[in-house]
Amino acid sequence: MEESERERRRDLLTRAAIAADECRKCAIGYERRNNVYGEGDPWARLMVVGEGPGETEDELGRPFVGRAGQLLDRMLAAIGLPRADVYICNTVKCRPTVPGPNGPRNRAPEPQEMENCRSFLDEQIEIVAPEVILALGAPAAKSFLGRDFQITKMRGRWYIGPRDTPLMVTFHPAYILRQTGGEIEAVKRMVWDDLKAVRTKLDQPPPPLVTLTVEGRQGDIAQASLFE
Ligand code: URA
Repeated sequence: MEESERERRRDLLTRAAIAADECRKCAIGYERRNNVYGEGDPWARLMVVGEGPGETEDELGRPFVGRAGQLLDRMLAAIGLPRADVYICNTVKCRPTVPGPNGPRNRAPEPQEMENCRSFLDEQIEIVAPEVILALGAPAAKSFLGRDFQITKMRGRWYIGPRDTPLMVTFHPAYILRQTGGEIEAVKRMVWDDLKAVRTKLDQPPPPLVTLTVEGRQGDIAQASLFE
């Protein structure tokens, strides 16, 4: 019974991915090598939404498989979630680039590109129906919560996302990787707090639909090293 429901959702996602692959609403649809639709458990309790595919993702057609993806895997493992148990996707399915001296370079998706891709993301949320959405980085957060979202001030709280799904925002793993010196421990600590809040939410029975502020932010700092 459970498996047939999982298969039903997998089929729906497979069909939706074909439609996304045919989309050419944006110029990046003509430039990308692969459409990076998303992957993971079609009946996942947690959906992770990143910004957009980078070079490795574009090459392989899979989300979060470069350096940031490896860190994401460790972040998820730190809260007891193997990557295969989560559904992972992005606000845009095609790699946004700018020309660079050594070939195309990554850039953040434009609001119009996120808008053009939105129906695909909404469809994924509808099919997977996760209990929690984790948005990684400001572009993903803004796509759900509006352009005024400021990640440094507003991450780490619960918001209500699509389908009334509890939505947490944390820093993007690529941002963590860019940190140096004194900043790095503080950023990791904040991300660890956000991840623990996600774990706590998943450990609770189905949530009442209210906006919550994360409680219990004291924690085990040693645990943060789990995703170093
Ligand atoms: N960064 C993202 O936001 N998404 C990916 O899939 C890879 C890197």
